[in-house]
Amino acid sequence: MAVRNILTKEDPTLYKKSRPVTQFNARLHQLLDDMRETLSREAGVGLAAPQVGVLRRAVIVIETNVPEGEEEYMIELVNPEIIERDGEQRGAEGCLSVPGEYGVVTRPEHVRVRAQDRDGNWFEVEGEGLTARCFCHEIDHLEGIVFTSLCERMLTQEELESGEF
Ligand code: ZN
Repeated sequence: MAVRNILTKEDPTLYKKSRPVTQFNARLHQLLDDMRETLSREAGVGLAAPQVGVLRRAVIVIETNVPEGEEEYMIELVNPEIIERDGEQRGAEGCLSVPGEYGVVTRPEHVRVRAQDRDGNWFEVEGEGLTARCFCHEIDHLEGIVFTSLCERMLTQEELESGEF
């Protein structure tokens, strides 16, 4: 495994649409392993392949809603698609490709996602709260959408820390 460089918002790659994954081979597994290692070194909750310069539809999301005493874990989603959205949450959002900047984005409170695993098997997974936000944010990356284009407004450090916005 290797840590890959994360592209920042100036890079045009982040605004391009990613292509579906069609080969569930060693190269994909290497990409996902590297994305896991890269994400584990960062204070983020998700990472999309285009953020490491690969325009393929693959993302990793950390499931943070785990029972007390249990470990958070990473969910790999290949060719993900949101198939249900419910409710609404308005909150602060950031991105490893936009370091130090946060903005207010409204997202569904709950989503259901259909995706393939690294071997091509289809599955469905649900996300609530932060996990739902993260699924939406990472899947947006596959469409070339960076969260700053969805922000109601950007937040100052004081607003972010106080939670009042
Ligand atoms: Zn992001």
